[in-house]
Amino acid sequence: MQDQTIIVHLYATSPTAACPQCGTAGSRVHSRYQRTIADVAFGGRKLVLKLLVRKWICAEASCSRHIFAERFPQLVQRYARMTDRLIKALQSAGVITNGADAAQIASSFGVPTTAKTIIRRVLQLPLPSEGSVRKVGIDEWAWKKGQYYGTILVDLEKRRIVQLLAERSVETSKVWLRQHPEIDLVSRDRGKLFREAATLGAPQAKQVIDRFHLQKNFAEALEKFFRQQERLLKKATRGSTGKARPAERPAVAEKVAQERRARHRQRVRLHKRIWKLYREGYYKEQIAQIVGVSSRSVYRALEQQAPPPPRRRSRSSSIVDPYLSYLASRWNQGCHNVARLYEEIVAQGYTGSRRTLEMRLRPFRPEATRPVSKQAVILDKPPSPRGVALMMVRPQHNRTKEQTAYLEQLVQSDETIAAVFKLAQDFGHLLRKREGQVRLEQWKAAVQASEIAELIAFVDGLAEDAQAVSNGCSLTWSNGIVEGFINKVKWIKRSSYGQAGFPLLQRRVLLHPASRSSHLLAHSASCSMRCSPARKVFSS
Ligand SMILES: [Zn+2]
Repeated sequence: MQDQTIIVHLYATSPTAACPQCGTAGSRVHSRYQRTIADVAFGGRKLVLKLLVRKWICAEASCSRHIFAERFPQLVQRYARMTDRLIKALQSAGVITNGADAAQIASSFGVPTTAKTIIRRVLQLPLPSEGSVRKVGIDEWAWKKGQYYGTILVDLEKRRIVQLLAERSVETSKVWLRQHPEIDLVSRDRGKLFREAATLGAPQAKQVIDRFHLQKNFAEALEKFFRQQERLLKKATRGSTGKARPAERPAVAEKVAQERRARHRQRVRLHKRIWKLYREGYYKEQIAQIVGVSSRSVYRALEQQAPPPPRRRSRSSSIVDPYLSYLASRWNQGCHNVARLYEEIVAQGYTGSRRTLEMRLRPFRPEATRPVSKQAVILDKPPSPRGVALMMVRPQHNRTKEQTAYLEQLVQSDETIAAVFKLAQDFGHLLRKREGQVRLEQWKAAVQASEIAELIAFVDGLAEDAQAVSNGCSLTWSNGIVEGFINKVKWIKRSSYGQAGFPLLQRRVLLHPASRSSHLLAHSASCSMRCSPARKVFSS
């Protein structure tokens, strides 16, 4: 590019210039000098301005300035080596993408620069003003998962991120909330931290438990219940697909089991350590930092005094599973030839045998005419307790036909499970339709009457935060959009390859077009839902 530089010589034609000190026009030119200034590219070539600057003698005899250089405030700042518009262009690129990529893009447009320059320019940008906020959603975002968390504050009305805080603590959130006495509603999760911060920092505001978190906590309670029901889960699988689980080769199975036991021992150790610290009087937040897990994991561990039971085998442990989506789509295109499919996935890195593939594809066989989905295969094994819990809280139209068939089978197999299913559906409905406090009380009563310990524990847990929970079942405000923004923060953080410190991340997040426009947000939120099945469960 260097040899293709375009040089433009410029000089001012104004008859005189004003002294920056006293404002008097300069009387005569004292001398001239040249400034070299980089500008935005011209026709894909680097553009350099050679600006001839006049030095003037101030006409005001008493002025201490005597000599001054003329300035070009619309074009370039004093001492700057780049035009304002070039700086702006680099800053925009540096906000949208990371320094290295932005530098590469700029270079391809004829503005050779470095990642360091881009980052320095972005850091010079002032943070946008927070403005006034009435309804705020507050949540945490992982700076380093399991270790450092920050806080995100979202204006729920204007659908934009208002602020990103480097810390997650009662103190910082409280201080921030106090700066906004206009806040009349705080939407938050069920954690103690944000509850305390909202109570202290915005006592005037109504608090709302976010529906997303309520649904999630409820699904966790369901999962606990289903952990005790593995036999029934297995039985319903045979009922819905007419097949038993294929046996594993003993040697492989033993190795897998060993690893599983090792992971379980580790979980038990962690659980004991958390309880020990808790008994010693540490706060949950402190425990999270000491043992290096998220505070949610600590909350979960402290919900049960007994160490966690061994987890059952994961549903997606077959070597074929990573290729199931691909296989299902090929199958639907009409390719039912195992040898061919085998070759295709080997090319993608599959290391299993053809026989394994063939076994795994067996559930596709009866579906000669209708399209298949990877769930058809996965449900060949019993779903995990968590999987069943998620299936149950999901609204019906979000379940696959295999899941619907499985649930039907499961519900028919046992009266208690049928009751649990009804309670799960009612709760989901209650939250999605915001049926209000009366329905919530009725539902809580139905849970108490059900005598299902895990669900009763969930309902009892709601008591200490009753008003905010009830608001969550009545008001339209929720943290759904906050979740979308957290994904955005994650994405920006990842795209910076961890080189960026907090001030850069903060600028990239707050100045990013998608942090401000609800239109772009809707797009990014729908993306995150496609990527993450756990999210989809809770969308209404
Ligand atoms: Zn002067």
